[in-house]
Amino acid sequence: MPPTTYQKLLNKHVLVIGVSSGLGAGVAEASLESGAFVTIASSQSIIDATIDRLRELYPEFDSKVQRIAVDLSASSSSSSQHSGAEAEAEAEAEADTDSDTALEQKLHHLFVTTPTLHSSCSESGISNPNPKKVNHVILTAADPLSVHPLSSPSGLTPSTISTATHFRLTLPLLLAKVSLQHLPASTTSSLTLTSGTLAKKPSPGCALLSYFAGGLISLTKALALEMKPVRGSTAARTYLAFHHNAKLYKLSTVVSAIKPFSALEEANKLLFKKGKDDESKSSDDEFAIVAEKTIFHPQGGGQPSDEGVMTKCNDSVFRVSMVRMDAVNDGQVLHFGRFDSSSSANKFQVGDTIEQSIDIDKRLLYSRLHTAGHVLGAAVRHLLEKEIPGFDELKASHFPDIAGCEFQGSIEGKWKEPIQQKVDEYIDKAMPVEVDFWDEEDFRKNGLERLIPDRSLAPPGEKFRVVKIAGAEVYPCGGTHVDTTDLCGKTTVKKISRSKGTSRVSYNVD
Ligand SMILES: [Zn+2]
Repeated sequence: MPPTTYQKLLNKHVLVIGVSSGLGAGVAEASLESGAFVTIASSQSIIDATIDRLRELYPEFDSKVQRIAVDLSASSSSSSQHSGAEAEAEAEAEADTDSDTALEQKLHHLFVTTPTLHSSCSESGISNPNPKKVNHVILTAADPLSVHPLSSPSGLTPSTISTATHFRLTLPLLLAKVSLQHLPASTTSSLTLTSGTLAKKPSPGCALLSYFAGGLISLTKALALEMKPVRGSTAARTYLAFHHNAKLYKLSTVVSAIKPFSALEEANKLLFKKGKDDESKSSDDEFAIVAEKTIFHPQGGGQPSDEGVMTKCNDSVFRVSMVRMDAVNDGQVLHFGRFDSSSSANKFQVGDTIEQSIDIDKRLLYSRLHTAGHVLGAAVRHLLEKEIPGFDELKASHFPDIAGCEFQGSIEGKWKEPIQQKVDEYIDKAMPVEVDFWDEEDFRKNGLERLIPDRSLAPPGEKFRVVKIAGAEVYPCGGTHVDTTDLCGKTTVKKISRSKGTSRVSYNVD
């Protein structure tokens, strides 16, 4: 397997729209260099010139590059002909609709005219009828720069302004709209718009173009929000599917990295080791796998790691025994485990499509224990917040047999029965447990400043995940939960212990 550092785009499909600028051709070349399949979409004459040059550079060019000749200019999009005096007004309206549809149709076409690549499954004899989806889109298409000094009476007119909007305003927005329908919903998908240097370095006569360029920068920020998890860059954070759907027990995704245990960074080796003995036990069969998405909850926030399997084409099985957040690479999830077969032919490779499935019984137990922990925390807060000086909820553990919540302040044993009653009340009420995403302002609006998490805990620009137990409490939380409190099952308060001004209330679920 080639080192992933130099084959970052191996098996990825990059769509480059517009190669007349040096930038577009450069992106196409760099993508090929990084192992990607490239589709170049541009006008015919420009494609021919670029292709000739790239073919000289890359011997495998014809199997790695697809060309689509397309005219995305405004004039080509509104070429519909209509006639007939009576229907003139109607035809005019239709022409507008047609030109709208025409441009979008052309953009759709760029995504669906995709080549069928040889996937690893087809190599093993199973045909893969799905064409390779586009993963990254780069737009560099533009018409020639028009310079319109403000001092020139005939320069800047409604019509020149309107003409300039096509490539700089209409096309980027429509491309974002169409990309959203076609790009895989993954943090490893991206849309890149190019603004040029005029946004930051204006030059005389280019007020209009600087205006568009500056707007593109704001547009990119807005798109990052609306197109999430698709990113404006190729950052490789793992998409945490369980954050959005805790009942996803199976998921198809793509391997983005695979490392033998021995090749892991020291900090990541430590995550895997439970004791010194384990070092000698670690063998060549042990790997850490990163995928574009995961349904596996990594250990954290008091919740144990999920277990399960990842399979490729039903014949290669990787048993996931432990899942952790990567200690070195921000936002990546490491799945530790072993392949059933030690044969190297059965191991995964970067770019392989695999299916994840988790141990459902364990997940349900962890979700019940975890939710019961929130219920207990809320019950204790509602009972004792005003009774105990300096009261606060501290950390909690939701592991089977050792689950418990810690509180600031000394909780006497006499409270055990009232806490049990309050817990029973919340469980019996079947209160809905809802997940939401809040920013700092949302916490303030709800009077919960005390809960605002550290900014570094959420990916840049993203909101914090919170769990709301309707009618009781809100907690910032990345774990998995049951839908209503009654689904926790009978929850028993076991014991209250006190130490150095804090108290621990232990519990279990049946
Ligand atoms: Zn939670």
